[in-house]
Amino acid sequence: MDRSGAMSKSYQTRAALLAAPGQLAVEEVTFEGPAPGQVLLRMAAAGVCHTDMHVYDSPDGRGWDFPMILGHEGSGVVEAVGEGVNHLQVGDNAAVGCRVPCGSCAMCQRGDTRRCMASSAISPSIQLAKDGSAVNVPMGIGLFADLIPVDAAAAVRIEPDIPVEKLGTLGCAVMTGAGAVLHSARVWPGATVAVIGCGGIGLAAIQGAAAANADKVIAVDLNEQKLEWARRLGATHTVNATESDTVTEIRSLTNDQGVDFSFEAVGSSATVEQAMAMLAYGGTATMIGFPPEGSSVTLPIGGPNGMFRTTTTLTVTHGGDGLPMFDLPLFAQMYRDGRLDLDTMVSHEVSLENLGEGFDHMRASDSIRTIVRF
Ligand SMILES: [Zn+2]
Ligand SMILES: [Zn+2]
Repeated sequence: MDRSGAMSKSYQTRAALLAAPGQLAVEEVTFEGPAPGQVLLRMAAAGVCHTDMHVYDSPDGRGWDFPMILGHEGSGVVEAVGEGVNHLQVGDNAAVGCRVPCGSCAMCQRGDTRRCMASSAISPSIQLAKDGSAVNVPMGIGLFADLIPVDAAAAVRIEPDIPVEKLGTLGCAVMTGAGAVLHSARVWPGATVAVIGCGGIGLAAIQGAAAANADKVIAVDLNEQKLEWARRLGATHTVNATESDTVTEIRSLTNDQGVDFSFEAVGSSATVEQAMAMLAYGGTATMIGFPPEGSSVTLPIGGPNGMFRTTTTLTVTHGGDGLPMFDLPLFAQMYRDGRLDLDTMVSHEVSLENLGEGFDHMRASDSIRTIVRF
């Protein structure tokens, strides 16, 4: 029995199951809930992220057993709360963020919870309705389902003046991109910024840089449509990397100085090297993109352009060093104030049955974020 006196009960609901690599099907799943420390969410919107696609495409599910429910950013309405959950009530609008500080790793113990080494939500226990076999949720959160139990530590109440379906991209795309700028790199007013890769996360970084009052915000991509979105979301300049040498172009846009901050939202060796080569004296490059296993970079350290002379820094952010409880209400407030455009961030909407189209858009590189609408 939970604090409100409600018995834990059995639920059956539809979920988009990844049954094998690249194989999605909507099936019925069951669970008991909500367990202590969980909330039950009636989903409104859930974003399709590159991390989902990495698992979707991987021959071994990236180490998670099939079948599984993907989806780690989204929003919904609280349908029930488990024992010990005090920050959410039935009927609240909640946004889900994919980072939950563990509280016990070395980083958490020294008070740096934004850089928790073991950030992970506690997975709910879910079964296939047809045979009772276990269903996994990578990262501890699986939101591609009509009704789903979620670790309450990952669910944040957002005031209901914003329609709940608008909050679907806060938990990963916005938290990672804008968080990389505001929390990881701490871009200052008047700084010059370049963002390489203008997918959902790169465009959120551009919005973060504009909100931080950066002087110049230079967007770099291979795709003219994405550069057009970047201009709409706050880029002051764009560089089409198919047409010119990115580093040369950025130097010419900054009076040959380079940028104070570069953000690499691709995850490739070549773009990380570019992110370093485009920095001004004392500048910082931040890696956001997930690099493939075994990849490496070569960085000059000696000579006039070497890191020793230029005192440049290469750093890494995981998920924008996000703390959902703190960050998601802040991003919601930035949306209310007109400093964060959540509407343009959603380029496509699909139903749960058509989730695969979200991955098709990602592969075709013609989307910002595809949202599953419930
Ligand atoms: Zn994600
Ligand atoms: Zn930790």
